[in-house]
Formats: sequence, structure tokens, C-alpha cells
Amino acid sequence: MFLVLGDQLTRRPFESENALMVETSEFARRYEYHPKKLTLIFSAMRHYRDELREEGVDVRYVHADTFEEGFDAALDGGETVRVQRPAAHADALREAVEETGATVEFVGNPKFLVSPEEFEGWAEGRDGFRHETFYRHVRRETGYLMEDGEPEGGDWNYDDENRDFPPEGYETPEPPSFPPDETTRAAVEEVRDEYETWGESDGFDLPVTLEDALEALDDFTNNRLDEFGPYQDAMLRDNAKVNHSLLSSSLNLGLLHPDEVVERAVEAYRSGDARLNSVEGFVRQVIGWREYMRHVYRRRCDEMHETNALGATRDLPPVYYDAETDMECLRTVVERVRRTGYSHHIERLMVLANFALVYGADPHQLDDWFRLAYTDAYTWVTTPNVVGMGSYATDAVSTKPYASSGSYIDRMSDFCDGCAYDVDETTGEDACPFNSLYWDFLDENRDELGDNHRMSLMYSHLERKDEEEMEEIRERAEEVRRKAREGML
Ligand code: SF4
Repeated sequence: MFLVLGDQLTRRPFESENALMVETSEFARRYEYHPKKLTLIFSAMRHYRDELREEGVDVRYVHADTFEEGFDAALDGGETVRVQRPAAHADALREAVEETGATVEFVGNPKFLVSPEEFEGWAEGRDGFRHETFYRHVRRETGYLMEDGEPEGGDWNYDDENRDFPPEGYETPEPPSFPPDETTRAAVEEVRDEYETWGESDGFDLPVTLEDALEALDDFTNNRLDEFGPYQDAMLRDNAKVNHSLLSSSLNLGLLHPDEVVERAVEAYRSGDARLNSVEGFVRQVIGWREYMRHVYRRRCDEMHETNALGATRDLPPVYYDAETDMECLRTVVERVRRTGYSHHIERLMVLANFALVYGADPHQLDDWFRLAYTDAYTWVTTPNVVGMGSYATDAVSTKPYASSGSYIDRMSDFCDGCAYDVDETTGEDACPFNSLYWDFLDENRDELGDNHRMSLMYSHLERKDEEEMEEIRERAEEVRRKAREGML
């Protein structure tokens, strides 16, 4: 018996003649998820089931309240259940299956490139490690973008070529859309009728099958990869996708495998169809950050769900749910997520997480929000990204918080031009809320961050402010927090 979890819809190494899939309603009720996320998972699982059956696999597809109930109904004890090692919490899965008397045998998981054993072998004996050293290790091991043992082009990264803002009138090719078929339409209806959700269910167009996902990969590598790099950090009011791959929901379901995705991108570089800075930036996301986050979470998940290094305990303000604010950046991005279940990584980090960070919101409330809101979100990816990188509630992922005033958003977006607030002002009722919150955040967290050498420049700017100016900043920050709390910002 091969157990297929809902986010393990992979092609390899499935060889069994019979399979078990369990669809649970308890999972879907854990949060008020985005309806497109639930639709995606249910529809992709059901398509996968149908495809397996067409290939002659005997699939038992169980609807149950919980996994435990599903296992009880489908397993009679004594059998060996083979299952791909999950991204995290493998012991909990083993326990749930073995309660029935069955035995679990974990096999490799092609959804990831680096196995836990490989990661542990690399990490052993290291006194702390960071993404960059891990990424270089994976490049060397795989040979991706390597030439005679050296990085392609002579550098490990080309970030300095990837921070441009597109020229006026810049247009990007429209990525393919995957309109719902009968199975997906049924899932849309079911989610609408049976679950409490947050977000719009109309307009579902995500890949739900391998065929769809491969078409999306083709489109990205053929039409958008070349210009992905230069504008990967740009945030545009009228263009949510820019040249982003939009492949994360398929990768995280297991429909696409990281090696094939990266190999296609490298191929595009070798054939002269995509520039090196774009390809390297994309490869880094897939074999660097994605793999690294998975392993950091796998190793430190218990701590990550508890930690709150900066003692941030304010409730997440209502704007994350209702998008009602005059802050153009926050309003645009929350509305975008509410409509589609997607926004790109810089909008996630430098608008949504940055605001929660400088506001002082509880990192675990923010983590829950990301998990329910994004179609590509699973605990193994959101928790290290949100609790670690976005909120700096632990130093497991980054060495400093990604806190910024409005100036970063002004530089990398077209949001500020149409905003009711003035990005050049810090105090006063028209001042950009990010500015006072940013300085107040530094001031509030002096004990935790003041000695961090990577923050020394920021603190040297803070030290130049006299007490009168700081008092005005604190007052404005307090007013911003009050208005945000009351939904009046
Ligand atoms: Fe956001 Fe401030 Fe710019 Fe308005 S002025 S869009 S609040 S960064």
C-alpha cells in the first residue's frame, strides 16, 4: 500500500499497485483558508486519483474528518504503508498510521532535492550555518550553473543586477490560465458550500494536473524567465505577476519537481534564451531558499512555533483581513491576496511582513495569516519564512530583521505615487505610517538589536535623532498603531 498525501502528488517513486489517499475536512476547517487554496488541493488530489486509476492503480480514496479516522477506515493493521517522507513532522505521521497496527516505511520525496540525510551530513560539525553556504554546497553537488568547479560567470550571485525598476509602460507576457474543468468546478462549489473561508473563490485558474503544471513551466522558461531577474523585486500596482514563475503552488503540491524546473531554467541559459542573472536568481530560489527553509523548519519546528525573540504581542491589525486602509501598498497587496491567493515574495516580505514587524504584531498570528491566505503555503515553508525571516522571532534564518521605512517601498514600487500618505514625512497626520513605526521599532528593540553589527548603520541614524524628534516619532507611531487597531489607518 502506498499512501499519497495531498501535497505529494509526484511522479516518482510511485510503483505500488494500490494506493490510499485521505481527504480530511478537519484540515480544511483548521483555518478560514483562502477558497482557492482548498479548491487547489481538493481538485489536484482528485485529478491525481483519477490519473492513477487510469494507469491501473487501485486507489482507495477516503473522505474523513481526520487523518486518524481515514487511516482507521482504510487500514486493517499488519500491512506496510509506504509513503514519501513528508517535509516535516514525519514522526507524527508515523504515529498516526502505526496506531492502526500498520507499519510505516518512508521513501524519498522528489518534491525536494536535498534529503534530510544529505542535509545532516552537510550540517554536521558546522558551528551554525547560513543559506549562502548551503546554496553554494547544493550548486557544487548538483553542478547546476557550474563550470569546471566554479560558478557560471565567475560569481555566486548577481543580485546587484536584479534590483531594477521597470521603465514606464513596461509590459509582461500574460501567463497561461487554467480554467476549471468539471472536477475543479465541483471543488469550487463544495468549498463555497461547506467551509468558512477568507478570499474570493471566483476566477480559479491554477494548474491542478501535471499537464497544466508542465505547460506553466514551459511558458515561464520560454516567455518570462529572461526578464525575471532584473525586475524580481519590483512591485507594481497594475501587474501582480511581473515575470515571476508562478510555479510555487505546483512545486509545493509535488506536481513539479525542483530538479526538472531548475534544469529547464539552466537549459534556457545555455541556449542563450535567458540571461545569467535571471537564471541564477531563479535557481537560488528553488535549490537554495526553498530547500534551506524546509530543513531549518524540519530541525527546529517545535521552537519556531513558540519563539518570539522580540516580544511582539500585538494582535494582527484588521487590515490583513479587510484591506481597508489608505496605505496604498498594504491595501493593494492584501486585496491582491484576497482576490488570488498570491503575491510575489517581495510584497510578502517588504510590505506584509515588514508592516507587521514594525507594528509589533505577534509573529504567530502573522504566520497563521500567511498559511491561510496563500495558495502555495504549507507550514514547512511559511513558518521559517514568516516567523524567522519576516518577523525575526528567531535568528534561525536571518542575521537581522528585514525592517524598513517607506523608502524601500518607494524605491521598488509605484505604490507611493498614488498613496494618501507622504513617504517623505515621518511625523504629522499625512506621514507614511512605515516611517514612524520603523524608527519606533528600532527604539523599542534597542536591547535585542542594538548590538547586532548588521544593524549598526540603522542605529547610527537613530542615535542622531534628538529627544524632541524621538518624542514626536513615538507619538506618531502610537497614533498609527491605534488607527491600525481600529481599522482607521
Ligand atoms: Fe506605503 Fe507609505 Fe508608500 Fe503609502 S507612502 S504606499 S503607506 S510606503
